[in-house]
Amino acid sequence: MKPRLVGLVGSLLMMVLLPLLTIYFWISLALFGGAFFIPGSGFLSQIPAPTRTAVIVYAGWLLLQILLQIFAPGKICEGARLADGTRLKYKMNGWFSFWFSMAVAVIVAGLGWVSPAIFYDQFGPLLTTVTLLAFGLSFYLYAVGKDRTGNAARDYFTGTALNPRIGDFDLKLFFEARPGLILWVLVNLSFAAKQYQLHGVVTAPMILVNAFQFLYVADYFFHEEAILSTWDIKHENFGWMLCWGDLVWVPFMFSLQAHYLVDHTHQLSWPAIAGIVALNVCGYVIFRGANIQKHNFRKNPVAPVWGRPAEYITTQNGSLLLTSGWWGVARHMNYLGDLLMGLAWCLPAGFEHPLPYFYITYFTILLVHRDRRDHGACQAKYGADWDAYCRKVRWRIVPGLY
Ligand code: NDP
Repeated sequence: MKPRLVGLVGSLLMMVLLPLLTIYFWISLALFGGAFFIPGSGFLSQIPAPTRTAVIVYAGWLLLQILLQIFAPGKICEGARLADGTRLKYKMNGWFSFWFSMAVAVIVAGLGWVSPAIFYDQFGPLLTTVTLLAFGLSFYLYAVGKDRTGNAARDYFTGTALNPRIGDFDLKLFFEARPGLILWVLVNLSFAAKQYQLHGVVTAPMILVNAFQFLYVADYFFHEEAILSTWDIKHENFGWMLCWGDLVWVPFMFSLQAHYLVDHTHQLSWPAIAGIVALNVCGYVIFRGANIQKHNFRKNPVAPVWGRPAEYITTQNGSLLLTSGWWGVARHMNYLGDLLMGLAWCLPAGFEHPLPYFYITYFTILLVHRDRRDHGACQAKYGADWDAYCRKVRWRIVPGLY
């Protein structure tokens, strides 16, 4: 098959199968206690229709996030240099928006206006509602962009604009994080509330998963500026893939472990808790250390790395590649840290069913693929300098192994 045709078929398959997978997992948790099942002929009829409550809740949520993005205080930062030499300005008010959203959630649940278990109770209808929104928004993004290949399905999937904006409102930056990432934390908390409603207890595994993922998301917003140098913001057009991923995949699939734990109320021994916490802390130190090291190095190459002058390669095009600190240990230690944390999020679920391990399985595939894609892009960009870097820093993700 020709590569263009492969791309087209791949895009269409993903747009059909991924949403069905999210429904499958929801049914598995709702009806089969998290066990895998073989979907029968009635599977499609089990797809939940959006409810009035789900539509109102999500519309309110989205409106709150839009208002926060526009009006909340935050510093203005410049993004990476674009092909035309200019830099876009971004308002970085995610840290404020995150805590403001948490406060709103606590107030509306505390006053009894909304059940704290709302995201559990409305999970299926919300999933469908947000999926439909993502498909609709992707049509808008497809229509306004100009970067077309002539293959409509492929363009719809990957997007037709790098930085679509409405006035100063940057759609990609907003949807990358605000409605989905913050919602993920609230969905998790809602699962903890449901566990308490149903079983009169919030178990240690549930607390661990909530705490780890809360830390991950809070940390993201604390270092929000770092997103401006990520692959998604610099290189990826904003189409269905990012849009659906940000709106649906993140809050509804990343919360899988907490979802599973609602009805699995096992406890963990203290040594097991200590081991899982240590794994998460270890992952976090590597993940955050590597990401911030690169960010700081690119801002100020003469700043010390691990207390010593930074070592680096100066490339032909002027960019510098750090070869000391975490970036001298392996070329993507930030991915390794992320993976260790991902494993720590799955382990509290125990070993009764494989379903809670979906996250670490999918994430390993994603990051290995991402590393290869990034490697190709850097090789094309830096040529012999990249090869020299790879010779100096041999390992891709796991020192001594890969
Ligand atoms: P990186 O932050 O690793 O960025 C890669 C880019 O950094 C390269 O393209 C290159 O860009 C530059 N670079 C590479 N090597 C060096 C070096 N030695 N010194 C200086 N610059 C270098 O990748 P991502 O954007 O993919 O990931 C960012 C974080 O996001 C990671 O921690 C990852 O785990 C996480 N992530 C999480 C996901 C999730 O779903 N939870 C999904 C994807 C990522 P250039 O030289 O052009 O500037």
